[in-house]
Amino acid sequence: MAKQGLTPQGEDFSAWYNEIVQAAELASHSQVRGCMVVRPYGYRIWELIQAGLDRMFKDTGHENAYFPLFLPKSALDREADHVEGFAPETAVVTHAGGRELEEPLVVRPTSEAIIWPILADWIQSYRDLPVLLNQWANVVRWELRTRPFLRTTEFLWQEGHTAHATDEEAEEEARRMLGVYRTFMDEHMGLAVVTGEKTPDERFAGAKRTYATEALMKDGKALQAGTSHHLGQNFARAFDVQFQTEHGEHDYVWSTSWGVSTRLIGALIMTHGDDQGLVLPPRLAPFQVVIVPIWKSDEERARVMDTACRLELELGEMGVRVKLDGRETHNPGAKFYEWERKGVPLRIEIGPRDIEAGQAVLVRRLVLEGQDRKAATGLDGLSESVPALLDEIQSSMLEASRARREASSRRDFGSYEDLRSWIEESPGFAFAGWCGGVECARRGKEDLKVTIRVIPDEEFRSDDVPTRCVVCDQPSTTEALWARAY
Ligand SMILES: [Zn+2]
Repeated sequence: MAKQGLTPQGEDFSAWYNEIVQAAELASHSQVRGCMVVRPYGYRIWELIQAGLDRMFKDTGHENAYFPLFLPKSALDREADHVEGFAPETAVVTHAGGRELEEPLVVRPTSEAIIWPILADWIQSYRDLPVLLNQWANVVRWELRTRPFLRTTEFLWQEGHTAHATDEEAEEEARRMLGVYRTFMDEHMGLAVVTGEKTPDERFAGAKRTYATEALMKDGKALQAGTSHHLGQNFARAFDVQFQTEHGEHDYVWSTSWGVSTRLIGALIMTHGDDQGLVLPPRLAPFQVVIVPIWKSDEERARVMDTACRLELELGEMGVRVKLDGRETHNPGAKFYEWERKGVPLRIEIGPRDIEAGQAVLVRRLVLEGQDRKAATGLDGLSESVPALLDEIQSSMLEASRARREASSRRDFGSYEDLRSWIEESPGFAFAGWCGGVECARRGKEDLKVTIRVIPDEEFRSDDVPTRCVVCDQPSTTEALWARAY
């Protein structure tokens, strides 16, 4: 366990990120390059993400199912754009059971080509629609450059797959799930995102339209946090999924798919973390409160532990995820340091003198210094006050994320050179005009390493819509969100 401090964010954000993943015991490297081991503390965060999202998926009518890990290579080849998009990064099994397979098997990079042949059997008539499925699974994409949580060869995710009778219903579903992601990111992650549609160049392979939530990380780079695709009839045609309509005709079904992954943990780290370590929003913190008892003698220890245990019990009864750190192998200072690094929102310190005064000391992780950081609080009613305090911390984190996003956004670019000097000095979200030309989008990418993240939804657009393309200075057809991205 590293005892020295982390590289400050301002000095080398990327080094800070890699160190915090190790220091907060979120993940480890494995024997296979690019694959990560999610350690228990990191996995607990994932479980909380899963629990929150799963409830929202069920509330919107979806059911969980599980489809196989492998698909025949020929199935992936059936949707032309899809295979072109995914073939370069697939892992293929050619041998199994000690012999060469007649047909190689692909380890799923995503499951459209696994699920659609099955849906062809399930769907016969409009009465069978809609089909609203979700799967919690792992997928494999053979990435050349990997980073824990942000881009790994194997990762955990959920993938929603739905089938509908009409174009409009599929569009509504794709939009609905984008909204679910946004609500989750707001309310659970404290992550203020911009939603919008991807340009044709950045669409999911095989989609008609791709929507995304884009989040701004503390280093000014964008992170695509979730995507929702309206797949049109592309997969239904590729896998021949037809249904009988209400009027007795035959038509191909309309479909969507949508997903978020363990990348969300990377988003949490880079949105809220600071030079001391991780900062977790209460709703996703494995421990929302840690109690650190302080003693010098055995007699003191017995008294302090007695009160600390009672407090732990009370907090548990209030529905708070609480940890009493009674380890005798670590001194209080080492415990403070460890839980601070792991981002626990609230710490309660209790020593013999606190007990005599009928109080405990409450320390907020978010506040690093000043008089708001520590407060002596009476033991009576302490546990009752904690849930409200956690809610307050949760909403202040969303506020802070929103304020950072706004402070790092600019909307009035006069020229391409203007965009260049801004993005090189203080990268962030650039809302600027775009002519719709692929050439301009590509030039920004090659030249300034900025990509069009999304065509932002109405509520994120500028009051004064830009009239010129920021790259070629021709009239713009739309406003785009340009940024450097992970
Ligand atoms: Zn242009």
